Amino acid sequence: MHVKKDDIVQILTGDDRGTTGRVLRTLPDVNKVVVEGVNRVYKHLKPNRRNAQGGRLSKEMPVAASNVLLYCSTCRRGVRLGHRYADDGHKERFCRECKNSLGALGKARASYAKK
Ligand SMILES: [Zn+2]
Repeated sequence: MHVKKDDIVQILTGDDRGTTGRVLRTLPDVNKVVVEGVNRVYKHLKPNRRNAQGGRLSKEMPVAASNVLLYCSTCRRGVRLGHRYADDGHKERFCRECKNSLGALGKARASYAKK
């Protein structure tokens, strides 16, 4: 998956097209992500023992990971990303548009560090 939890992503399709939100959860098995405030639906609940009133519960539904792009704060929009090794040996993600780093991943590996 090209996005992970707590990433800020932009939505490409559907009612929420163009909006950005934080990834709350990833579902790699089905290639979906749950994004804060995106694809909200109302679940109608009947009254039960725990919830005497019943009513409506608003919750986010998963969207296909292919329909979101990682948000680049420099480009101010969702962008395609690449992976590369930073000078300190960290693998990092970068924006293919402006080439800025979008954050390091994992541990630094000395063999990839530039001396
Ligand atoms: Zn960018």
